[in-house]
Amino acid sequence: MPQWIVSLSYLLSSALFIFGLKRLSHPRTAVRGNLLGAVGMLIAVVVTLLDRRILSYEAILAGLVVGSAVGALLAVKIHMTAMPQMVALLNGFGGAASALVAGAALYEAQGVPGAMTGQFTVATAASGLIGGVTFWGSLVAFAKLQELITGNAVVFRGQHLLNGAVFAISLALGAWLVLRPEQTGTYWLLAGVASVLGVLATIPIGGADMPVVISLLNSYSGLAAAATGFVLNNNMLIIAGSLVGASGIILTRIMCQAMNRSLANVLFGGFGAQPVTAATADSVYAGKVKAASAEEVAMLLETARRVVIVPGYGMAVSQAQHAVQSLANLLKARGTEVLYGIHPVAGRMPGHMNVLLAEADVPYEDLKEMDEINPLLKQTDVAIVIGANDVVNPLARTDPKSPIAGMPIIDVDQARTVVVIKRSLSPGFAGIPNPLFAAPNTLMLFADGKKAINEIIRSLQEAGVAA
Ligand code: NDP
Repeated sequence: MPQWIVSLSYLLSSALFIFGLKRLSHPRTAVRGNLLGAVGMLIAVVVTLLDRRILSYEAILAGLVVGSAVGALLAVKIHMTAMPQMVALLNGFGGAASALVAGAALYEAQGVPGAMTGQFTVATAASGLIGGVTFWGSLVAFAKLQELITGNAVVFRGQHLLNGAVFAISLALGAWLVLRPEQTGTYWLLAGVASVLGVLATIPIGGADMPVVISLLNSYSGLAAAATGFVLNNNMLIIAGSLVGASGIILTRIMCQAMNRSLANVLFGGFGAQPVTAATADSVYAGKVKAASAEEVAMLLETARRVVIVPGYGMAVSQAQHAVQSLANLLKARGTEVLYGIHPVAGRMPGHMNVLLAEADVPYEDLKEMDEINPLLKQTDVAIVIGANDVVNPLARTDPKSPIAGMPIIDVDQARTVVVIKRSLSPGFAGIPNPLFAAPNTLMLFADGKKAINEIIRSLQEAGVAA
């Protein structure tokens, strides 16, 4: 295939990626955006496979078959609630693939006159370094989220010094590789030291900071791919890697802002390392928690004019989104205004709640971001918190020692009555008690999310509220 066709196709793919990304920023256009990106990738893959530089297809085919089978199986089997682990793993594989391809290119270039250009060697070193950090950092993030190892931050004395020293060694090895690219062993040593750095840099991050680390590793995987693009002189890889790198870092910033943390504080703060002492469950809850039945909640809803539903991780666990939508329709049909308050880190992945509610055909205009819904909560009759905990925890405002201190929350406690649907008084992801459950205007409906909502619907219907 002539080079100009390859270049033109890559340009087309890149344009499709950029338009696809643009559309991903709104739920209404996201599906089409995803499709545009996928078409772009298909064109890029097909054109690359037909490129004259590919001499044999056997190994590629075997890789495609095995990789596709494993990927498809994982995608089908994975629970929605385990998506962050899956994303972590995929980021890691991206980093590893980039590092391996750059390593292979280094071997191929040995003895080829003019192959070891400055661009080539610097990009190879960058790929080995970033790829190694991404792969092992992502494996640690996966193990934490999958609870194979402790999810808390692991900190020890001299940690920053050690991390700094390992980083300096990896930079020195990178520089050595640039100077002596014929010593291929240096590359693998660099990848090895970078792997140690990946582990060391990820273990001190824990608890509620994990979403930030996942999006940061996502960004790294893009940077590793872009570096490998420079190794191979492949514009497509450079552009796609840069897009992933940039969007990952933007998402990281958004997540940090949502948690009111600086990136440096997330990376080096070691939050969640020590058990939190400020508020214990006993002192927060003793004698103050009021339980309610589904019938009582239905009675409250019958007279409410505005209801705000705040979903969290528990809605994903109980798959209550369809039931929630039915309840909202039932209330709307009798003139109640129903809105949803969506916290940016509710659930276990960015956009988790939006995805679930979109799946249940909840109208986009009913979904209100935290800044939009908070001013409305004072004039809200009933706030229904379903499976959310950390994102509505007032300790974020009042307890500077808590691991969520300073994180903006959805101010459901401002509503006239708050109904919290969860199975027990167990803590959420951050592992701390929640004074909201003991507030004078809060009623606890202890049940599985879906079951509770269905019972409320039944009670409303029995009371004669027409659907
Ligand atoms: P939380 O993790 O704070 O709380 C979830 C609550 O859901 C639990 O307290 C649990 O209580 C309840 N729950 C579990 N299963 C059910 C069920 N079947 N029915 C009803 N309730 C159930 O969730 P939030 O969404 O409020 O907060 C998200 C947290 O996760 C934040 O700390 C965030 O930083 C972190 N995080 C977010 C990520 C993201 O990208 N969005 C990624 C990783 C972490 P009980 O057991 O009593 O039912």
